[in-house]
Amino acid sequence: MTASTPIPHAGRPRRGCCRFCGTPLHMTFVDLGMSPLCESYLSADQIDRMEPFYPLHVQVCDRCWLVQLEEYVSGEEIFRDYAYFSSYSDSWLDHARRYTDRMIDRFKLGKDHLVVEVASNDGYLLQYFVQHGVPCLGIEPAANIAPDAEKRGVPTLVEFFGEELARRLVAEGRRADLLLGNNVLAQVHDLNDFVAGLAILLAPTGVITIEFPHLLRMVEENQFDTIYHEHFSYFSFVAAERIFAAHGLTLFDVEEIPTHGGSLRIYARHTADTTHPVTDAARELRARERELGVERPDYYETFAERVKETKRKLLAFLIDAKRAGARVAGYGAPGKGNTLLNYCGIRTDFLEYTVDRSPHKQGKFLPGTHIPIHSPERLEQMPPDYILILPWNLRDEIAAQLAGLRAKGCRLIVPIPEVQLLP
Ligand SMILES: [Zn+2]
Repeated sequence: MTASTPIPHAGRPRRGCCRFCGTPLHMTFVDLGMSPLCESYLSADQIDRMEPFYPLHVQVCDRCWLVQLEEYVSGEEIFRDYAYFSSYSDSWLDHARRYTDRMIDRFKLGKDHLVVEVASNDGYLLQYFVQHGVPCLGIEPAANIAPDAEKRGVPTLVEFFGEELARRLVAEGRRADLLLGNNVLAQVHDLNDFVAGLAILLAPTGVITIEFPHLLRMVEENQFDTIYHEHFSYFSFVAAERIFAAHGLTLFDVEEIPTHGGSLRIYARHTADTTHPVTDAARELRARERELGVERPDYYETFAERVKETKRKLLAFLIDAKRAGARVAGYGAPGKGNTLLNYCGIRTDFLEYTVDRSPHKQGKFLPGTHIPIHSPERLEQMPPDYILILPWNLRDEIAAQLAGLRAKGCRLIVPIPEVQLLP
């Protein structure tokens, strides 16, 4: 099977049009109604105030098949004070460590190379390259987390990444031998500016790796709660491939990885660079997606109804549990939990409280639903009958952490792909 039909990029995004190819959007993928920004945790003195809600109406472009959300709130507003500190999740750190070892081994990275991570967060990943003596640079727009990265020995620029910054770095003599971005591509409104920047900053024989949640898994497993205002785009491999191609980049390899409920790690290089031949994995995934119909409207038309049914099943479970006098608490305060709870209308009437390991979230309240966030010790102090695991992608890790409570009769529930009691 041949590569996808090329489509030129349309430059800067325009309202109501596809952020990649500029085609006017008129096909709804799913409409989750109005929701607050999912990372806007509230302090006690904020919960009596007015709170902004924005639409979560996802559309799909019927030319390039990019699933996307309008930029209802600017990325700048969202990411300047981002509460997410990567280092608080054990499985993320494992993922980062394994990634580092593999890249150093596969691309023979050493002290003469430069690794650049876009959206480097608190340096949780680049710290492992630092430990191996590979020079690196983090780029992170959230000023509140950059100091944590510096503490880990990771030099960090507090800036948004795009063509302009890429040109400036190249002018300073810096080009990336490995250029990576995990869970950032989906969060970029000006997609063409971002991918153009990647192409500029990449050394002639350098490699880009980008991870993003895979649209196929979202569709197959009903992961509608991964939709939030910060997530502007939802990619199939085929859609991503076309976007990179429009900027002179070829996806030469791909891996399906378990993070965020099923993600892709794509490997890109300059189209003119023949150092890395296109792998079978890339060809096979492209063929599989086409067979499933990612370039046909019917693939996108059934999702919305399945989302509604998931809501009905979760609410039916919670209503029965509450009628039976059960106490229900949450575990975790991830962004995806806020989409789920707001869309389903679940407040303290169903979920008394939730807990989170991040001290930055403890003592605050979930946006929209105003469910209080405590430290995990609260579960021991006031054991509920059921615990709803909001970051269901970490269900095994969390189930292991809660083994003591389970032994005392506490049952765990996951909401996605549909409400389910863990055995
Ligand atoms: Zn498009």
